[in-house]
Amino acid sequence: MKYYILFGPPGAGKGTHAGAISEKYNLKHISTGELLRAEIAAGTELGKQAQALIAAGSLVPDEVVEGMIESAFDTIKGYDGFLLDGFPRTLGQARDLDKILGKRGEAVTAVISIMIPDDLIRERIAHRAAIEGRADDASEATITNRINTYHAQTEPLIAYYKEAGKYHEVAGYPGNIEENRARVLKMVEGIQA
Ligand code: ADP
Repeated sequence: MKYYILFGPPGAGKGTHAGAISEKYNLKHISTGELLRAEIAAGTELGKQAQALIAAGSLVPDEVVEGMIESAFDTIKGYDGFLLDGFPRTLGQARDLDKILGKRGEAVTAVISIMIPDDLIRERIAHRAAIEGRADDASEATITNRINTYHAQTEPLIAYYKEAGKYHEVAGYPGNIEENRARVLKMVEGIQA
């Protein structure tokens, strides 16, 4: 099985390009953000715990997302691999993912990193807020906290995966969605092992 990580700051276009990548390579796309929003919508205990943290732009605890990921690995069949979107997001999650995969005799295949600068993060999220109506896209304070959280907790993963020889980066700008998608797909073609 292949285990790709779709990496990048909020608004980089991970969700926008995930469908094209996962279809092309028969991967199951798993977005931890989407799974958490589904838990909130369903009113589950997990959703209730996550709601305030997400609304503030903070991360939910590692064990919460790791539980969702493990259960996806256990139950989802019929694909050549997984495209993990929004996970891992902390060094702890990255190390735990290595352990979770190691137990199965598997490993991370490659990291597909889409990069955009901070001012574009704000611009894209403001635009998305009007379209998708996500609560955590609507407030300036929440967006600022998400950007800070990304730099403090998630950016260190770049060095982690560079060290492992698995890090591949592509610019998520400029251009329209189609141009960006073509650039991302070309990059992924280049890392096909
Ligand atoms: P974006 O990529 O725009 O930040 P996501 O849908 O990936 O949006 O995530 C939304 C929110 O869900 C995050 O701000 C965070 O609160 C929570 N979340 C998603 N994935 C994780 C994760 N791996 N670890 C902790 N929290 C997460």
